[in-house]
Amino acid sequence: MRIVLLGAPGAGKGTQCKRIVARYCLAHLSSGDILRQERGAGTEVGKKAQSYMDSGQLVPDGLIVKMMAGAIGRVAESGFVLDGFPRTVNQAEKLDELLTAEGNEIDAVINLEVDDDIIAGRMTGRRSCPKCGAVYHIENLQPRVDGKCDNDGVALVQRADDTLEVVQNRLKNYHRQTEPVVGYYRENGKVHDIDANREPDEVSSAVFECLDAMVST
Ligand code: AMP
Repeated sequence: MRIVLLGAPGAGKGTQCKRIVARYCLAHLSSGDILRQERGAGTEVGKKAQSYMDSGQLVPDGLIVKMMAGAIGRVAESGFVLDGFPRTVNQAEKLDELLTAEGNEIDAVINLEVDDDIIAGRMTGRRSCPKCGAVYHIENLQPRVDGKCDNDGVALVQRADDTLEVVQNRLKNYHRQTEPVVGYYRENGKVHDIDANREPDEVSSAVFECLDAMVST
C-alpha cells in the first residue's frame, strides 16, 4: 500500500502514521522528521531548510522533492505512508511522475480534518524531548515530572515552529498551499475524509476502517 496522509500541521498526522505503519507493516516517511534529521546532522539540505522551517514557511519544492524521492527509493520494496509530503500541488504532481515512472501509484489519501482553533491549542501546548524525541502536551499529555522527559529526565523544549505566531503562519500557509492538494487527489477519487477533531483512538478506528476495506478487496 502507498498512502498519503494529509491534514494541517497539528492535525495528528504523526500519531496516526505511527499506528498505520504498525498495523499494515509500512515504512513511515515524514518530510518534517527527515528535515530535522538533516538539520541535526548539519547537511547542506538541513542548512538550506533551516530558515524556512523556523519561520513556518514551506521549504522550496525542488529541495523537498529530491529529498523525498531519495527516501521513497530506499523503501521501494515495502509500502509506505507519506506524512507531511506532498504539501503543494507541484510536489503532488512530481510525486505522481516519480511513481508512474516505476509503474506505481498512490493507493489512498487519508485527509485528517480539524478546526483551526483546536489545532492552535494542540500545537502551542506541545513540548518535546530534544534527546529522544518523545512528545508531550502541557495539558493533555503531561510528563510525570513537570518539564522533564519521562524516558531520560532531559528538559522538554517547545519547537521553534510551535509558537503562536509561527503556528498561525503555518495554518495560513496550509490553507493557501496545501489544501489544494486535497482537491488534486479528490479528482481521482482516492480521498477519504476523516473527522480528526476527535480523540486519537476514535480517529484511528475511522482510518483503519477505510484501510481495512482496501486491504480486503
Ligand atoms: P512538519 O513537522 O511536517 O510540520 O514540518 C516542519 C517544517 O518542515 C514545515 O513547517 C516546513 O517548513 C518543512 N516541511 C516539511 N515538509 C515539507 C514539504 N513537503 N514541503 C515544504 N516544506 C516542508
